[in-house]
Amino acid sequence: MAATEGAGKSMIELLVSEIAQALGVPFEGGGTVREVSTDSRTIGPGSLFVALPGERFDGHDYIAKAFAAGAAACVAERKVSTGNPVWDERILVVPDSQRSLLQIAAYYRQKFSFLSVGVTGSVGKTTTKDMIAAVLSSRFATLKTLGNENNEIGLPRTVMRLMPDTQAAVFEMGMSGFGEIHDLTLCVRPDIGVITTIGVSHMLQLGSRENILKAKTEICDGMADGATLLLNGDNDLLQNYQNRRLNVVKYGIDGLDCAISAKNIREAGEDTHFSISYEGNAYPCTLPCIGRHNVLNALAAFGVGVFAGIPPQSCADALNGYQPSGMRQRMRECRGVRIVEDCYNASPDSMRAAIETLSTMACAGKKRMVLADMLELGEISQDSHRQIGVFAAQKGVDALYCYGGEARRLYEGAREAGLKDCRWFPDKETLTETLCREAVEGDILWFKGSRGMKLEEVITRFCEEC
Ligand code: ATP
Ligand code: MG
Repeated sequence: MAATEGAGKSMIELLVSEIAQALGVPFEGGGTVREVSTDSRTIGPGSLFVALPGERFDGHDYIAKAFAAGAAACVAERKVSTGNPVWDERILVVPDSQRSLLQIAAYYRQKFSFLSVGVTGSVGKTTTKDMIAAVLSSRFATLKTLGNENNEIGLPRTVMRLMPDTQAAVFEMGMSGFGEIHDLTLCVRPDIGVITTIGVSHMLQLGSRENILKAKTEICDGMADGATLLLNGDNDLLQNYQNRRLNVVKYGIDGLDCAISAKNIREAGEDTHFSISYEGNAYPCTLPCIGRHNVLNALAAFGVGVFAGIPPQSCADALNGYQPSGMRQRMRECRGVRIVEDCYNASPDSMRAAIETLSTMACAGKKRMVLADMLELGEISQDSHRQIGVFAAQKGVDALYCYGGEARRLYEGAREAGLKDCRWFPDKETLTETLCREAVEGDILWFKGSRGMKLEEVITRFCEEC
């Protein structure tokens, strides 16, 4: 069975009146809804248009247009006069229209019976979510979060793709402050929860890693007594986390007391071979990507599979079918240079994972890394960049190319730690020209930086224009 990311209008029909009731809004009229959308351009007959106030566009300005396109009803934060009294009566006024998306999704979710899996953590959510879907879809008709739609707008979109034949669903849950995971978990009510890592992303909003732990463990709020919570036992903060109400299960490579662990990890080309230890048995597994962090993510997916009732070896086998989502550590080759395209995002935790992974790779030539800014780190930015530079120097990177304003500190850190072949580039042109001159057959060239740095542009030019 295939995991489906599903497309567009595929929810079961809801009455406008039941939606109004779920939102606590009086409504007397009829009509049905087959799609919920916040984008007035996609509205058609049977759509519910949810008008979100925004900085650049205010959805309330598009309500009349939505009705003209056939919308069955609209959700808005204030009464709007469309010039048509019949339409005006079909506007459901709520205090917070963004919140109403979650409320509608929560109502929709409870109509279905399926295995619900929620995934949160500082890094590795999307990867783990995709690995879990690879495992569950070997047995069940499985729905998963599209790409990275993990917030209070994206998550309801996934929930509203549930159908009566959905047997399992994997929801990615992201956050940037307290209370957000709480809201998401009450919507999806996970039977199995996963926390991948507690790192330093969102330090700015939360102030300390202990607070990040608190915010992530809000996932428990939506889980029933006895439900299974899988935790990365190699993470210093998750290792000691306890919850008497839930069945807490830990997975890890180094971690003590982990019910699920990996042994004999061996990389071969673009694959990683290892054996999963669980309940005294060993299950061989070949994962089509590299890095210890991915082995950890795979252990979480294995755990979800066995707690969903799939035989352990089938879970291990299904992991072989995992395919990474866009720009996450994708490998390709250009003129004999092995390129690792890792430009989807960057945080100190994932930078370290990338450097660590590169350090374990076999390489006939030189290990070269292009590291660009990690954005949105706030006041820890300078220190974090410097520390990553030091780490790269310690881990045996042969040549380091730093790009972007913040990456200047990364360069300085690496220099101070003794890395000689290390340069900083303020622009992509000189960076690309230098790479074209220096990277040769047998080398590995790893690109990593925040999404906003668009490092993939350098890769394209390196591969097509040198
Ligand atoms: P976002 O917050 O953007 O949704 P995410 O938590 O979904 O991120 P991924 O997209 O899976 O994370 O991975 C982001 C980066 O982190 C990638 O570079 C990936 O290689 C790295 N990564 C994945 N899993 C881990 C892990 N367990 N530990 C550290 N780094 C990881
Ligand atoms: Mg993600």
